[in-house]
Formats: sequence, structure tokens, C-alpha cells
Amino acid sequence: MTSDLASSLWHDTCQETPASSVLTGEVTADLAIIGGGYTGCAAALRAAELGASVQLIEAESFGHGGSGRNVGLANAGLWLPPEDINTRLGPEVGLRLSQLLGQAPETVYGLIEKHGIACEPVRNGTLHCAHAPAGMQDLQRRADQLQAIGAPVQLLNSAEAQARVGSEQVHGALFDPRAGTIQPLAFARGLARAAREAGAQLHDQSPATAISKDNGIWQITTPKGRIRARQLIVATNGYAQAMAGHAAPEIVPVHYFQGATAPLSASQRKSILPGLEGCWDSALVMSSWRMDQQGRLVIGAMGALDHFGAGIHKTWLDRKLARMFPALAGIKLESLWFGRIAMTQEYLPKIQKLQDGYISFGYSGRGIGPGTLFGTRMAEALVTGDADLLPLPVSTGHRLPFAGLRSAYYETGATLTHLIKDRV
Ligand SMILES: Cc1cc2nc3c(=O)[nH]c(=O)nc-3n(C[C@H](O)[C@H](O)[C@H](O)COP(=O)(O)OP(=O)(O)OC[C@H]3O[C@@H](n4cnc5c(N)ncnc54)[C@H](O)[C@@H]3O)c2cc1C
Repeated sequence: MTSDLASSLWHDTCQETPASSVLTGEVTADLAIIGGGYTGCAAALRAAELGASVQLIEAESFGHGGSGRNVGLANAGLWLPPEDINTRLGPEVGLRLSQLLGQAPETVYGLIEKHGIACEPVRNGTLHCAHAPAGMQDLQRRADQLQAIGAPVQLLNSAEAQARVGSEQVHGALFDPRAGTIQPLAFARGLARAAREAGAQLHDQSPATAISKDNGIWQITTPKGRIRARQLIVATNGYAQAMAGHAAPEIVPVHYFQGATAPLSASQRKSILPGLEGCWDSALVMSSWRMDQQGRLVIGAMGALDHFGAGIHKTWLDRKLARMFPALAGIKLESLWFGRIAMTQEYLPKIQKLQDGYISFGYSGRGIGPGTLFGTRMAEALVTGDADLLPLPVSTGHRLPFAGLRSAYYETGATLTHLIKDRV
């Protein structure tokens, strides 16, 4: 099993294909953007709308990184609850970020509607489910903090959550009606298509191999071409490929894998997630499940599929499916894929200043709303010159001692959990 995007359900069912070409020869632009995920595509769209000339380059195909592989939960906020964000950023900056990200689903679903993006949008809310009775303490704490800043979240008891999920394996849930699900790859590619329609030039299969700044102009070199631009956004996040002249910020890579059933029968769909909420649980080694538009159940958990633990993860996922939804026991998961989440030390995304540019990274598993918002705001800040538009102040440096060890810690923990725990 590889990390090939083509092995994913999202690749098979993607209805958006942005027209793009390999960058050849020398081109000039007001703004060059490196990386064709949510951040880069949203930035390209906004900058082009504001009248800037934009060149957007992607090393592989649009949505190749986290944007094409994720669960598709369009959340209203970060992984951390508001008070934890305030502790790390200070109350003023923290509250502003939480409020901006609380509106991020509005931005995402607004863009989908405005540009007619064919990405299976469902805005029926999300359920953060208690994996055990003890999980309710964490959910209660989150509910209190979110309600204190005006978020319309609602705590569901065990019976209510079980009816919504269609499983006796959940022990309550935190319902967030602001959020929903999307087909993640199609959203990325739809954003790219919208950026092109707004005037941005799109180039796939065009990795930046070197960047430099000469006489105030950025030069971005690719195997067959070069961009000269006044301003630059680097949006390569957890999938950064090496560029001479640029040291990508360190992240902790954490892997997450998923599989999808065949479309469920009408009667199965009446009892399993009848309201189509997107779900994840409160377990330390987290799991998620959601439906796609064709009624496939997409289920996933922490872990990578490119090492000795792959068999353990896959066997565990079959067991998890059967335990959560006994009616689906024995159903084969038809596609299996995984992706790399870019975590930071504090589980918070970062924006760093470049000379005449920005780099953002580290959405720590919450990038649909945040990536779209950060890309949009970085573009606005560059085109208008108003850095106050950024969703949070720029940070300087991001040191992550032992990033490799931390990543191995998560992967080993997930493998051991899937090997030892939760056996039927
Ligand atoms: C398995 C998984 C599940 C997740 N689930 C969710 C979820 O349910 N909800 C949620 O909100 N978030 C989720 N996330 C996080 C979310 O997917 C990411 O935060 C988001 O996609 C980041 O977008 P991005 O544009 O910043 O980066 P990416 O989508 O990773 O894009 C970076 C792009 O840069 C390109 N690139 C790299 N180097 C170069 C170069 N040198 N030249 C040109 N291009 C380059 C890469 O090929 C890549 O396409 C999940 C992530 C994963 C991996």
C-alpha cells in the first residue's frame, strides 16, 4: 500500500478537474504561490479576485497533499478548545482566532455555492463522540468553553448520540451545527478551478526546486520554467518538497488512514448516520466515520499504511467497523489510503513572514476551514498591504526538537493500540 492519492475514494469520485499545464519558460506575476492545496488555491482565488496577477504551482496534481486525502470534516475551529488556544496565544489573539475559525465553515460553504464547486457539500453538523463514558468529561469541558464564546454547540446524551450515529459504541456527543462534510479533493480542485476562472495561471507537475530573491524580485525555479514575482506565498505545509534556498518549517508528521465501504443499502442508511453528520471520537488514538454522497461509509483512524504496521491497522479497521456497526460486519473496505497531518508543537497553525510574502503551515488536522481562511487572508494582506487582515500575528521560527521521534511515538502508539486494544 502506498501513499498514492489515486488509491483513495476521493480520487475515484472527484468531479472537479481544474485545467492546468506544466510551467515552461519564464513568466512574471505580482504573486507566486507554491502548493496547490486549500491554502494555495484559496490564496490564488482571492488574490486574482483582487486584481493581482497570480502564478500557482503544484509539484504533483492539485490536492495531492492533505487537501486530497482528509476526512472531509469542515469543522468550525481547531483541535484545541478556545481556552487552550487562549493559553497559548493570549486571550485577545486567541478569541479572535476562535471567532474567525467559528465562521470558517460559512466561508467554505459560501465558496462552494458561489463557484458551484461539485464537492458533495452537506452542512448537517458534526458529532464529536465520546468513545467511552469518561470521554464525556472532555466533551463537557469543550461544550462549556465553546458556549462561553457564543458557539451554538449542543451536548447529546448517550441515547441521543446512539440514535444519530446508529451505533451503541458511542456514549454521548458534542453536536456542532455550524460544521459539515465535503468531498475534500473535489473542494481543493474546485477552488483551483475557481482561481483559474478569476484569472490565476495554474501549473501542475511543476515542483519549485529553488527560490531566491534578487533585486527585490522572487525567482522560483521549476524543472522546466521560472517565475519572477514581487510577492510569494509558500503553502506546501506537510507535503513540502525540497527547495534550494528555503528551509521548510519543521512539523511533526502524524499519519491517518481511511477506507470506504460500497454504497450501503437504503435500510442500512436509515439506521447508520441517517442525518449525515460527520463524526470523530474522543479516544487518544482517534477514529472518524462519515457518509459520502453515494452512501458509502468512510471510516478511518490514526496510522500509516506504508510500514510493517499496515496489516495491523487494516485488520483493526475491519474490527472497528464491525463493532461500531454490526450490520456491516464482514463488509470489505473497497479503497484504503492514508495521509500526513502536519502538527506543530502547540497544535496551532502558524504564519511566518517572508520578505514580501508569507508561509503558513501546521493546521494540526484541521485544515479545511483554517487553510481556506489563512490562504484567503494572506492573499488579502499581501495585495492590500494590510497585515492586520491576517487571522493571527506572524510568528518567528518554529523549532521542533525531536520531530522525527515524536512522529514515531504517534505511529507506534497507534499501532500498539490497534494491535492490543479493542479486540472483539
Ligand atoms: C488523513 C488526513 C485527515 C484529515 N482530516 C481533516 C478533516 O477532516 N478536517 C480538516 O479540516 N482537516 C483535516 N486534515 C488536515 C487538512 O487536510 C490539511 O490541514 C489541509 O489539507 C492543509 O492544506 P494545505 O493547502 O495547507 O496543504 P496541502 O493540502 O498538504 O498542500 C500542499 C501542497 O504543496 C505541494 N508542494 C509541496 N512542495 C512543493 C514544491 N516544492 N513545489 C510545488 N508544490 C509543492 C504538495 O504537493 C501539496 O499538494 C486531515 C489531514 C489528513 C492528512
